[in-house]
Amino acid sequence: MNYNKKTVKDVDVAGKKVLLRCDFNVPLAKDGSGVITDDKRIRAALPTIQYLLDQGAAVIACSHLGKPEPSFDKWVKKQTEKGKDPATLTKEKWEKSLEALCMEPVAKRLSELLGKPVTLAGDINVVNADVEAKAAALKPGEIMLLQNTRFNKGETKNDPEFAKKLAGLADIYVSDAFGAVHRAHASTAGVAAYLPAVSGFLIQKELEVIGGALAAPKRPLVAILGGAKVSSKIGVINNLLEIADTIIIGGGMAYTFAKAQGGQVGDSLLESDWLDYANDMVKKAADKGVKFLLPVDTVAADAFAPDANAQVVPAGAIPDGWQGLDIGPETVKAYCDAVAGAGTVIWNGPMGVFEFEKFAVGTKAVAEALSNTDAITIIGGGDSAAAVQQLGYADKMTHISTGGGASLEFMEGKELPGVACLLDK
Ligand code: ADP
Ligand code: MG
Repeated sequence: MNYNKKTVKDVDVAGKKVLLRCDFNVPLAKDGSGVITDDKRIRAALPTIQYLLDQGAAVIACSHLGKPEPSFDKWVKKQTEKGKDPATLTKEKWEKSLEALCMEPVAKRLSELLGKPVTLAGDINVVNADVEAKAAALKPGEIMLLQNTRFNKGETKNDPEFAKKLAGLADIYVSDAFGAVHRAHASTAGVAAYLPAVSGFLIQKELEVIGGALAAPKRPLVAILGGAKVSSKIGVINNLLEIADTIIIGGGMAYTFAKAQGGQVGDSLLESDWLDYANDMVKKAADKGVKFLLPVDTVAADAFAPDANAQVVPAGAIPDGWQGLDIGPETVKAYCDAVAGAGTVIWNGPMGVFEFEKFAVGTKAVAEALSNTDAITIIGGGDSAAAVQQLGYADKMTHISTGGGASLEFMEGKELPGVACLLDK
């Protein structure tokens, strides 16, 4: 696919101040220690950062991290909705929840990876007088990092005032935050109204690889769709039915299809509102001549637990009290055969509850089949990417997307606001 957006190579960044939106939304240890459990997203941003610094730009990097709630009242409301006792919801606890999402760990890791200091600046407003002074004083080849963009109430509202404040720090806006391009926020889209806006290398790579596979795939194109819910993958199934030669369904969503076809699914994940939709998809596939593969057997468990008892049963004959947690051996064979003959494979959503070793067999087998083909293999979806990594096949794939939600929306054929706002070539 021809990438039609300007990149950092199409503008002169030497001696310029560059506002660089990255996706530093990294997973942090649950114990609140601030330990980054996977720095893949920081490393994915390095080529663009290094290029800008080498070219003599002064880089003002920014990103969101997690989902901080910048309004105390809204925080109380959300926590109460989650079942917390309002009497325990103090200002101190809210401040702690914000502190836990400060950018310190990111600044530290980024500095280690770059081998140079990364100055962290900013407060709850993200841009303040201190930040403006530090940005103004930043020299070519130096980098600073702003505080979590979602600390500012204007970020998720795409508030023009906040966007202007961000833009005021720099001469050029570069976006490389692929994981956030499906959001029209102040730092991912709004700011582009006030500065020349171009993309970094990560966005370019993601769009070239995934976009290429969608626009002009090496055929046959096999799409493997799994994960928890049909409802979160409707758009992808629908769009890929227009493009793919074969669609393979696995994971929790398969039981909604099994039920729709008159099967018994026991206590398996089921979205009863989507039965008609499931049947429509099967029909649409038949009308279009797209092969639509559903599981023929399943590994049923007597509990949702890592050490549950398990038995292999036909896909539409899961006994009461049992739930399907993985695809069965016959299904694994059929899916691996389909993958073996593919020119391109797009995979979004694990085949089972891969977090439990006992039920990771189907996901592992499919990952291995992908690693053994000569096909172009593209992994979209946060959990699928985690599964491939955890099972040890990451370096065997053509491309593992850094953006779960963004790659999903791209595969749905939706416009990405964080890309649409960039300058055309
Ligand atoms: P992705 O992030 O790759 O798009 P999803 O978020 O849609 O994937 O789904 C991933 C989750 O689906 C995993 O946590 C996995 O445990 C769960 N899952 C897969 N198969 C089943 C199943 N049969 N029953 C319940 N959960 C499942
Ligand atoms: Mg997910």
